[in-house]
Amino acid sequence: MGTLNGKVALVTGASKGIGAGIARRLASDGARVVVNYASAEDAATALVADIEAVGGRAMAVRADVRSKTDVDALVAAALDHFGRLDIVVNNAGIYQFAKIEDTTEELYRQQFDLNVLGTLLVTGAAAPLLGEGSSIVNVSSFVTRVLPAESAIYTGTKGAIDAITGVLSRELGPRGIRVNSVNPGLIETEGTHANGVMGSDFQAWNEQQTPLGRIGQAADIASIVAFLVSADAGWVTGETMLGSGGMR
Ligand code: NAP
Repeated sequence: MGTLNGKVALVTGASKGIGAGIARRLASDGARVVVNYASAEDAATALVADIEAVGGRAMAVRADVRSKTDVDALVAAALDHFGRLDIVVNNAGIYQFAKIEDTTEELYRQQFDLNVLGTLLVTGAAAPLLGEGSSIVNVSSFVTRVLPAESAIYTGTKGAIDAITGVLSRELGPRGIRVNSVNPGLIETEGTHANGVMGSDFQAWNEQQTPLGRIGQAADIASIVAFLVSADAGWVTGETMLGSGGMR
């Protein structure tokens, strides 16, 4: 009997990286999972097949979380297919460091639209469906504690997420809905490979500064999310929980 049996979870940006790890873990804990993706249909479909091959239930749904039309359709698809919604993980996000003098409107809009507007739209569409005992987890970042140079836009987006987490814990708490964030340290993902972080000085600096002596894997974050959405975390809301091997 899984800890999430009977629950339905929606994970945004679940075709890759941390989101895929979270979707896999919540499914193995018994949740039926909506695997959201933006472009990587093959990866999302393969993840659903993997989950179903070991007896889980999942479905892939394309939606750009920056679009209210797409988000409304995403939430409607979850309800149509699985009949309810209990868990929302706002994971879809993008990171691009830049010196402050290299700030552009494009860098700002790319990161704030996906990381912040996307989280607000998905949460807003899902909130009316969530009942007592439901839970929302926002994927923030350790950058809001570490404050790395040349990350003003990205760290700004995640600072907003930490604040939004606190606000929504107050706003939705009276309905028995918990809202927390997990703040990962550097994690090896398709995204950190694609943007050149893996193998860089930034990776070496992270390993050096991390008490546990390594960077993280998606499963390290998935297990924290699995705790935060479980009944064991029933007295936990409004938290920003570092998952960084002790780096702070
Ligand atoms: P990733 O490997 O680049 O994967 C990003 C995911 O987001 C993909 O599934 C992608 O879908 C999806 N996505 C992109 N644009 C989207 C959109 N407009 N609508 C819906 N989904 C969209 O990223 P990651 O490294 O796993 O990071 C995931 C989250 O963790 C982000 O919020 C990031 O800020 C946070 N985080 C990451 C690290 C790290 O070191 N990796 C550390 C701290 C926090 P498609 O592939 O279909 O486009």
